Amino acid sequence: MSSLLVDRIGELVTNVADSGTGGPLGIRRNAALLVEAGRVVWIGPARDAPAADHRIDAEGAAVLPGFVDSHAHLVFAGDRAVEFAARMAGRPYTGGGIRTTVGATRAAGDDELRATVRRLRAEALRQGTTTIEIKSGYGLTVADEVRSLRIAGEVTGETTFLGAHVVPTEYADRPDDYVGLVCGPMLRAAAPYARWIDVFCERGAFDADHARAILTCGQAAGLGVRLHANQLGPGPGVRLGVELGAASVDHCTHLTDADVDALASTAGPDRTGTTTVATLLPGAEFSTRSPYPDARRLLDAGITVALATDCNPGSSYTSSMPFCMALAVREMGMTPAEAVWAATAGGARALRRTDVGVLRPGARADLMILDAPSHLHLAYRPGVPLVRQVLHDGVPR
Ligand SMILES: [Zn+2]
Repeated sequence: MSSLLVDRIGELVTNVADSGTGGPLGIRRNAALLVEAGRVVWIGPARDAPAADHRIDAEGAAVLPGFVDSHAHLVFAGDRAVEFAARMAGRPYTGGGIRTTVGATRAAGDDELRATVRRLRAEALRQGTTTIEIKSGYGLTVADEVRSLRIAGEVTGETTFLGAHVVPTEYADRPDDYVGLVCGPMLRAAAPYARWIDVFCERGAFDADHARAILTCGQAAGLGVRLHANQLGPGPGVRLGVELGAASVDHCTHLTDADVDALASTAGPDRTGTTTVATLLPGAEFSTRSPYPDARRLLDAGITVALATDCNPGSSYTSSMPFCMALAVREMGMTPAEAVWAATAGGARALRRTDVGVLRPGARADLMILDAPSHLHLAYRPGVPLVRQVLHDGVPR
């Protein structure tokens, strides 16, 4: 078995909060890290580094766990650059453009969809994202949802069935029938290809009764629950997610005190287990010129916060976790350290994963070496490609 030593790490972010005096990010100075068979097997002072078959010299730079992007929509065809331009010229965002992408996606061949997924997956990996969740939701027929999940499953284990993204045009005047389709034949066909089920619970998409029905069916089929909630206005989504034990409620832009209290009620002392994470997606607010969610309010209430890209062709066409972190720090009241935690360990919590978003013996060897001496630079130097090298499953990429 071949071993790989990442040596001369100036600042190692482990996210292991109890590692000495490293704070919540578990920072170690002048460290080294040994990888075998895709896993971290040793972490310690660089001066104690063991021999290894291969060596990467970090030259004093910062090393972090790979980003965990827990919310992305990568299976689609076409783009909506013209819609973006129109929005920037003053037209509001309503979510209706999803149907434009549904039409393009249905018309596309498998190879075209596969090429887009692989291109975006590679783009994210270059920017440090080693774990990514990918949703269906631009097919909205049994066959097109299954094919979306099958193609997503070729690049990630974190696949999410989002048949309830919007009611497709052909069901516009009979949404109850579409909910029946999603809960019945579509879920049966999709479940073998999905780990999660998601619903866009929002005015103009699915109301609380429909969302509850769909998510409950998904749970019965063995899928974990997550949902799009409270993005465009206040609504029942966040409290529904808490009620159903969702791993994550995503967006959380418009929250009442009752929503915040409900989320806080799930936060155990170790922020693991049955916690419902609030996943914030500031790329969407950026791209729709909307008010940002208040991360500070959530953090101060003790709620676990994740950051993710929401990468999709309509409302957030970015695969860059550092961009989202910079927005969270500048616009949402997060400290740079909180943003790093939310983009790594927070994303892992949102996917109920303990093997990623953290660097300790036994964890996956998913990490990035920065062209910078500190994690602070990720938010401090926005728009700059600071990821020098990525290890995914212990393999340099
Ligand atoms: Zn989304």
